[in-house]
Amino acid sequence: MHSYLFQPTFEFAQSLDKQDTLADFRKEFYIKQNSIYMDGNSLGLLSKRAEQTLFEVLGDWRELGIDGWTEGKHPWFYLSEQAAEMSASLVGASPEEVIVTGSTTVNLHQLVATFFKPEGKRTKILADELTFPSDIYALQSQLRLKGFNPETHLLRVKSRDGRYLHEDDIIAQMTDEIALIILPTVLYRSGQIIDIRRLTEEAHARGILIGFDGCHSVGAIPHHFSKWEIDFAFWCNYKYLNGGPGSVGSMYVNRKHFGTVPGLAGWFGSKKERQFDMEHALTPAETAGAYQIGTPHILSLAPLLGSLEIFHEAGIKKIREKSLQLTTYFMDLIKHELDGMEFTIGNPSDEKSRGGHISLEHKEAARICKALKANGVIPDFRAPNIIRLAPIPLYNTYEEVWKVVQMLKTIMRERQYEKFSNDRNVVA
Ligand SMILES: *Cc1c(COP(=O)(O)O)cnc(C)c1O
Repeated sequence: MHSYLFQPTFEFAQSLDKQDTLADFRKEFYIKQNSIYMDGNSLGLLSKRAEQTLFEVLGDWRELGIDGWTEGKHPWFYLSEQAAEMSASLVGASPEEVIVTGSTTVNLHQLVATFFKPEGKRTKILADELTFPSDIYALQSQLRLKGFNPETHLLRVKSRDGRYLHEDDIIAQMTDEIALIILPTVLYRSGQIIDIRRLTEEAHARGILIGFDGCHSVGAIPHHFSKWEIDFAFWCNYKYLNGGPGSVGSMYVNRKHFGTVPGLAGWFGSKKERQFDMEHALTPAETAGAYQIGTPHILSLAPLLGSLEIFHEAGIKKIREKSLQLTTYFMDLIKHELDGMEFTIGNPSDEKSRGGHISLEHKEAARICKALKANGVIPDFRAPNIIRLAPIPLYNTYEEVWKVVQMLKTIMRERQYEKFSNDRNVVA
């Protein structure tokens, strides 16, 4: 990070915005007036370009009917591959190693169905106790399908403090009983970045396959999946990638695994030129495309095309630089302004292991979130005590970060949170 000498003033926030080379991208997004959106790591905002590609695809449907599959602005038959090609550089992959299909959880099911091959003593899966619940449910059910008891066959690395994972603890559990490891790239609560490269090397040295859930990092942090030789990854496109609610998910499969028979097969996994031969013997694609199942959800994919263009123009390196500066500034302000108010910063402070969001802990977190919302700030709450705040480089400003911290200060000083109940809403 270049020239940064923290000052708590509003003018300083303005000066950071003036130096911001990504500032113009904010105009591309629909930003609600009198509202500060800090939840782009749960659901990214709509951009005009994402809206435009959705309208274009709708237009092709209106004008072309069935012929939209092969004609029009974005022929639907190739849309998953087209979006994959546009995503590849964000994760450090070649285009054939990525496919945009399914959803996070479905893709995890597919990858485990394909790559979990219990043999002899190696029959267990290693995950961690801080990961997102859906991943655990998927792993438990995949174990059951293969005839194993998840109680004994799904191991979860423990966290020493409830926030972070230690790579050494993960490595210590890489025994000769483990067939497969699934870990997040970034922990969804504390925002800790897991050392993908080191863990991949250690897993491979022990003959274990390893895959990563990239939901909380792709679009926020550059990755080098192919250089690091991870076996596979999966992620969603509706968080940092702004693809819209229910946006189609993504998968990465390292090219060394091309040709591995898909665990869950379907006709969209066909080699494209063979798909309409309608043979009852599947000829899978020789790319990550082999792990698609059925017809892609075209209308949930279309906004991603426009959104990914923005990422290409901005560049993921620059996005990461601004993200780090935003979160550094956020933490400096919190320390300066909220001292003595019983907040704890529950995300890593060093840049190497800090993801894209701030995890602010407080025993009254649920109602502080409600008070923030009543004041026009959109955070998100993670039970029992976390306020997640994600300043997004493409559309948030330093001025907004300054205002959010001032708002928190006012809420605490005036005890505004006491007007609300300390429990969560249905979607938190
Ligand atoms: C958001 C998220 C999911 C969500 O999975 P869906 O199948 O898209 O509902 C899964 N894992 C992690 C780590 C997430 O952050």
